Amino acid sequence: MRGRNAIVTGSTSGIGLAIAKALAAEGCNVMLNGFGDAGEIEANRAAIAAASGTKVVYSGADMSRPQDVRAMVAEATATLGPVDILVNNAGLQHVSALAEFPEEKWDLLLAVNLSAAFHASKAVIASMTERRFGRIVNIASALGLVGAPHKPAYVATKHGLIGLTKSIAIEVAETGVTCNAVCPGMVMTPIIEMQVADQAKVTGLSPDQVVREVFLENQPIRRPVTAEEIAGAVVFLCSPAGSGVTGTALSVDGGYVAR
Ligand code: NAD
Repeated sequence: MRGRNAIVTGSTSGIGLAIAKALAAEGCNVMLNGFGDAGEIEANRAAIAAASGTKVVYSGADMSRPQDVRAMVAEATATLGPVDILVNNAGLQHVSALAEFPEEKWDLLLAVNLSAAFHASKAVIASMTERRFGRIVNIASALGLVGAPHKPAYVATKHGLIGLTKSIAIEVAETGVTCNAVCPGMVMTPIIEMQVADQAKVTGLSPDQVVREVFLENQPIRRPVTAEEIAGAVVFLCSPAGSGVTGTALSVDGGYVAR
């Protein structure tokens, strides 16, 4: 994978950061993306570049804005070269009963969790098929395969992302480009830490109890999946060994959807 150029959206934190590190460790040049503290982002960028010896750059593009998504792909192409690997990972959660679910949150989750993957994939696909190599990996969720209450936008966008994955995969199946989804179970990252804190307030349970009794209730391995375990699946899909895998939704969920 040495010399491949990768974009990982939402890679300033959590799963995306682990994916960026893992791809760089395999020799890929990487464009990081996402929000956060500028100093921390630069420290991560420099550390990944130093550890891997590859080129690591950063784009602050806002994945809720299609023009930003296109500009990010153009910038990656200009600074790294044609994009070989696109990991659509940026994602947001909002938890609320349907009757109170804010319309602007519905629109935002659709834009970031689903439409950004469409716009980014559209922006890279012609170059990938022309060069007869490409890997698109969409980070969906166990909730892309099964439902959960109070998460209508999240569940809808993650199911949609798996549909988008299948459609792209079949369209370009003969071109050397693959498109797959990875479906994580619960991984301890800021997106979950926020929900644990909210649930602890509502239920009166301690954060540890919330993790064990609420979040891990449906995850048979009874521990969070790690961001590195998700990154390992992404590396496999992007590697030569993953060439024959396309259009799939690969669960890395500790048995969540096996029940
Ligand atoms: P996280 O909150 O740590 O990371 C989210 C990343 O997305 C951050 O880098 C953030 O800056 C970025 N982001 C948010 N809005 C953005 C925007 N508008 N433009 C650009 N970047 C934006 O969460 P995570 O757990 O690492 O989540 C990564 C992906 O994994 C998400 O798609 C999430 O739905 C999915 N996922 C997470 C879990 C879990 O348990 N943590 C489970 C299943 C799926």
